[in-house]
Amino acid sequence: MTRRDFLETATAVLSLGGLSSASVAAANVQVFSDPAMLRHEPPDDHPESPKRLETVMQTVRRFETAGKVSVAAPRPATDDDLLLVHSPEYLKKVRAEIAGGRRTLSTGDTELSAGSFTAAAAAAGAVVSAVDAVMTGGTRTAFCAVRPPGHHASQARGMGFCIFNNIAVGARYARKKHGVERVLIADWDVHHGNGTQDVFWSDGSVLFFDIHQHPWYPGTGSPDEKGEGKGRGLIVNNPFPAGSGRTQILGAFRNVLVPAAERFKPQLVMISAGFDSRAGDPLGRLTLTDRDFAELTDLVVGIARAHAGGRVVSVLEGGYALDGLSGAVASHLSRLIA
Ligand SMILES: [Zn+2]
Repeated sequence: MTRRDFLETATAVLSLGGLSSASVAAANVQVFSDPAMLRHEPPDDHPESPKRLETVMQTVRRFETAGKVSVAAPRPATDDDLLLVHSPEYLKKVRAEIAGGRRTLSTGDTELSAGSFTAAAAAAGAVVSAVDAVMTGGTRTAFCAVRPPGHHASQARGMGFCIFNNIAVGARYARKKHGVERVLIADWDVHHGNGTQDVFWSDGSVLFFDIHQHPWYPGTGSPDEKGEGKGRGLIVNNPFPAGSGRTQILGAFRNVLVPAAERFKPQLVMISAGFDSRAGDPLGRLTLTDRDFAELTDLVVGIARAHAGGRVVSVLEGGYALDGLSGAVASHLSRLIA
């Protein structure tokens, strides 16, 4: 997809406001994305490339043409939104390093380009906008097609291709703006969401459930890491060795997440939807298939319907094989719609 195509897709969507409300309501999943996210440009050979988002949006556009989803134009995150998670010092550092022309973030292995702040604020803003949409009844389910990804970013440290923790900003925003007291974040990216874990370690308002490959980057995510204080017991890590797939991961969702959610009773369900846990991903060695992502989506949507009025905000994290990303996103979207 060229940039022009992307912009035309986004523009076509903006005109949705002119359609009858019935046709908008028929598309019961809203996708939040913004071409500004293409402006984060790591070097050409980097796996976290703008092509990922273009690929995802090609898939989204097929669903949109079929009347299955509508694509919404989000607002960028404000400093106030980002400060719900990140420290003022970190925000200042990110701005200064990008303005100064640094090619990598000093806090971790995240490449930078001139447009990285704009892209990262757009990514976090997409999640905030999706939270507004599901909390005010604009849609029940939302998918945020975003990059750079977010789940490795903690309060004061971006790393692992992440600048701001998009899903964490969304969860905190849900609490502040909409009074949501309990949010479930389910993370099926191949890598442990160490940033999300750090942010909500002693928070008490977020149940963070994570499956990941271990040993693997970033090395955290032991089952012994359970949170502290008000957050004690609300961090639930499920590490699996390379080669694990359907049996182990669907098993953890069914046998660990479902009962944990039954106790926690989330009012909003969020997914850190990383598709690098799919078989064949260059950055992972788990073996999930498109069918498995459909079933994982069903399980999470089932939790949302049981406890959270069906409210789901799914947020793209990793996924680095372009053909795999396309198939997995199609599978995920098809079950968010169902
Ligand atoms: Zn990942």
